[in-house]
Amino acid sequence: MNSNCNIPSVKVVKFGGSSLADAKQFLKVKSIIESDPSRVYVIPSAPGKRFDGDTKVTDMLLSCHALFGTEGFDQLFTAICERYNGIISDLGLDISLEDDYKKVREALAAGCAKDYVASRGEYLNGKILAKLLGFNFVDAADIILFDEEGNFNATATDKCAGSKLKSLSNAVIPGFYGAKPDGTVKTFSRGGSDITGAIVARSVMADIYENWTDVSGFLMCDPRIVKNPKQIGVITYRELRELSYMGATVLHEDSIFPVKLAGIPINIRNTNNPSDEGTMIVASSRCKAMANDDVITGIAGKKGFSVINIEKDMMNQELGVGYRVLQVLTDMKISFEHLPSGIDTMSVVVFKDSIKGREREILDRITAAVNPDNIDIESNLALIAVVGRGMIRAAGTASRVFTAVAREGINIRMIDQGSSELNIIIGVDESDFENTVKTIYNEFVK
Ligand code: ASP
Repeated sequence: MNSNCNIPSVKVVKFGGSSLADAKQFLKVKSIIESDPSRVYVIPSAPGKRFDGDTKVTDMLLSCHALFGTEGFDQLFTAICERYNGIISDLGLDISLEDDYKKVREALAAGCAKDYVASRGEYLNGKILAKLLGFNFVDAADIILFDEEGNFNATATDKCAGSKLKSLSNAVIPGFYGAKPDGTVKTFSRGGSDITGAIVARSVMADIYENWTDVSGFLMCDPRIVKNPKQIGVITYRELRELSYMGATVLHEDSIFPVKLAGIPINIRNTNNPSDEGTMIVASSRCKAMANDDVITGIAGKKGFSVINIEKDMMNQELGVGYRVLQVLTDMKISFEHLPSGIDTMSVVVFKDSIKGREREILDRITAAVNPDNIDIESNLALIAVVGRGMIRAAGTASRVFTAVAREGINIRMIDQGSSELNIIIGVDESDFENTVKTIYNEFVK
């Protein structure tokens, strides 16, 4: 972390499934926590994969729910219990989860919902981790609150979790779930322990939210496309949102909002390489204190887009053309992703799958609505976002992107630059996707 920043005094630390997959990983987690006394609130995931082809405990629990009452159930349930018992005995802990296993079986017999069973992965792991650390165990069902409809209740949770946790000097809070007012367990979507970590960080107004996983943060682009890409040191929430939208994933997207609102930085760290500083995700105001000479922060992209091109002379002088085009799409329940436009042209980028089989209808309805001179739909478009807060001060970034891509003989089919100057989006043929990413990376990263 930059020396200009204050030294954090309260850290919320979340460990992903691979960080807690077996006893060896638990010991790494213990040493990370014990090496810094400000790491006081700990959010564990359920045990993840130990090796390629292994099954995550959450998946095993979900299968148990589906298989209950059939032949395969007992064997699977026993395998889960053995997994936890193995961790306990390898760690030499004096704790038994037999009563908890019994309760899960009884709940299944009583017809409990899937969410309850899935949540037990984190619940049981949390109990083991609390014992190993000598920390308090706080059941997430008591402090992470949902309303009757199952929507997360941020205001109630902030109040409840904040007051409960601040009264404790430390706590392990299982990730991934909370409860509705009647006590029924409700989970977030898959990977949701990231969200719990962010919620807890906000409720205690942590100085930092550390998210420990099995990679040292974000890479500038997909390592399957560029070999050993540079790691991103500092990224803003806005940049991250642009890159995540385009498919770059390390963190559950919903986990950004709670901490972003509170201005709490997220630090992605690697449990298997704790000396690596990882990636710091910050609000842009904090960035000024964190130098970054790179013009671009990252490149991400995805395939599977189509573009509806509309051309009409004097379009700029006719009132409501854009409105009517979008109205057609709204009526057809098609949402648009990008809207690059010129004086007499307008292009609407949509997901290819969202218009599949309806191309003719779209063309007819837009034609009826705005009477264009030309209209067509191009498919097999890949979009690539070149993202970077550094672009604002570096003149000529766009021309560097276009020149580099043109030099490779790649045809750019669409260009869109957001007014924030945070990103440039280019559309290329799907078959040019990988080559374009590589070319842009090589242009900016020496
Ligand atoms: N264990 C849950 C899952 O596998 C939640 C998480 O790991 O964040 O999705």
